[in-house]
Amino acid sequence: MSTYDFDLFVIGGGSGGVRAARMAAQRGARVALAEVAELGGTCVNVGCIPKKLYSYAAGYADAFEEAAGYGWTAGEPRFDWDALKQRRAHEIRRLNGVYRSLLENAGVTLIAGWAQLTGPHGVQVGERHHSARTVLVATGGMPFVPDLPGREHGLVSDAMFDLAPFPKHLVVVGGGYIACEFASIFNGLGAKVTLLQRNAHLLNGFDHDLREFLAREMGKAGVDIQLNADLSMLRRSGEGGEGGGVTAVLSRGQQIEADAVLFATGRSPNTQGLALETAGVALDERGAIVVDGNYRSSVKSVYAIGDVSTRLQLTPVALAEAMTVVDALFGDGRRSVDYEYVPTAVFTHPNVGTCGYTETAARARFGQVTIFSSEFKALRHTLSGSNERVFMKLVVDTASDRVVGLHMVGPDAGEIVQGFAVAMRAGATKAMFDTTIGIHPTVAEEFVTMREPMTA
Ligand code: FAD
Ligand code: NDP
Repeated sequence: MSTYDFDLFVIGGGSGGVRAARMAAQRGARVALAEVAELGGTCVNVGCIPKKLYSYAAGYADAFEEAAGYGWTAGEPRFDWDALKQRRAHEIRRLNGVYRSLLENAGVTLIAGWAQLTGPHGVQVGERHHSARTVLVATGGMPFVPDLPGREHGLVSDAMFDLAPFPKHLVVVGGGYIACEFASIFNGLGAKVTLLQRNAHLLNGFDHDLREFLAREMGKAGVDIQLNADLSMLRRSGEGGEGGGVTAVLSRGQQIEADAVLFATGRSPNTQGLALETAGVALDERGAIVVDGNYRSSVKSVYAIGDVSTRLQLTPVALAEAMTVVDALFGDGRRSVDYEYVPTAVFTHPNVGTCGYTETAARARFGQVTIFSSEFKALRHTLSGSNERVFMKLVVDTASDRVVGLHMVGPDAGEIVQGFAVAMRAGATKAMFDTTIGIHPTVAEEFVTMREPMTA
């Protein structure tokens, strides 16, 4: 008979924590989960889901305009920000309830409150102490804001979903996933958006052709993208929304007046206040929990998954890591996560979808590569009046003919790349792409009809 209260104590009810708790309980383990806020974590409450809903909302702006090219006439479209916020909040509350039912039905003991370690097998929530054979830390991450004067006048992505009033002019600091997505969303919903990126390009780590193409398309759509733009301080100014506006001062002297400034400058692991040091859990220089291939920390009984540890900050990655831990603890331990060919999308307007190596990374890894690339206007826009274009690129390892990189900017890029990711993980070669019959007329068929390589 176990002397512990629980077999598994999960700290954090986000993507990774909920999946791990539910799966472990379904395998007969005695599981507790502590959550300090709403169930579902970042993804459900202030991440993937509300962001995608707002991205859909923003997409209608173009749809109304483009419909005219197809013969439609409608009244002047009007956007109601408060209505969108309310409908989103209602849907998120529904999802919080779904998560609660899933956990309760699986037999997980839910504990509301802030949890911290008291030792390798001890967790405290409020006044209560609990013991567990294994503790799983799945506390996610939080926005990182650079240390510059006036930083308190800026917002982070969590605050954008209920922003009041709707900003006439939004400044977005950063050029990564969140910066590009929120710039597209607020631009689509009718704000003037200025994006300030300290670098010479957006989306660091993505293929260089893709990110240049995306910057052009976002610029055409109306986002004012300022590259090599180093923010030096923020200052409160008289105009603008509740409490006045904000002036962004760049190190090159330029001043930009805005109603709101969003810091989208990365996310840090949530390891503060967990008393990890009491158990001796080691952190890396970013403050992330250091884990081995089985997500075990430097303390044998403490595991960590998702944004709080060291890997890719994506929901499906946190889910896969959760399944691996559960399998290691309560199954046959044969499951593992392969971080090669993880597909990802950035829900900009137009969308980005990518899988595998960038051209640069592929050259470094494989030596000689062959590049196929295409840029065109989608059939949809021959009548819509839109000047949006599509970009597609394949990176092929010349020696093996394997497609090692697939990159796209265009409508539904995330949906399209998801399917191709399966083929890429299965090791599909360019010859296999070439013998695959296309679906006509689609945008995606271009991936199986690119015949002429780019000349170096
Ligand atoms: P989280 O989901 O962050 O969950 C951690 C939970 O732990 C939280 O609920 C928190 O309240 C709780 N917690 C923290 N400390 C304690 C404590 N001491 N005691 C009790 N509870 C605690 N990923 C995608 O794949 N696709 C997307 O489109 C996407 N969009 C995103 C958009 C935004 C704006 C953001 C910010 C992120 C987005 N992500 C997206 C990333 C994704 O949300 C995260 O990778 C994912 O949520 C990580 O899951 P997690 O379980 O590690 O942590
Ligand atoms: P990212 O790492 O994607 O981007 C951070 C941006 O901030 C970069 O452009 C970076 O510049 C810039 N930056 C960093 N530090 C500073 C600084 N001190 N001053 C000025 N600029 C700075 O982080 P995000 O916050 O956008 O998103 C966090 C993570 O959440 C993502 O990496 C992703 O894993 C996940 N996410 C996933 C989404 C999806 O799947 N669609 C959507 C949203 C988030 P530089 O380029 O020079 O490094």
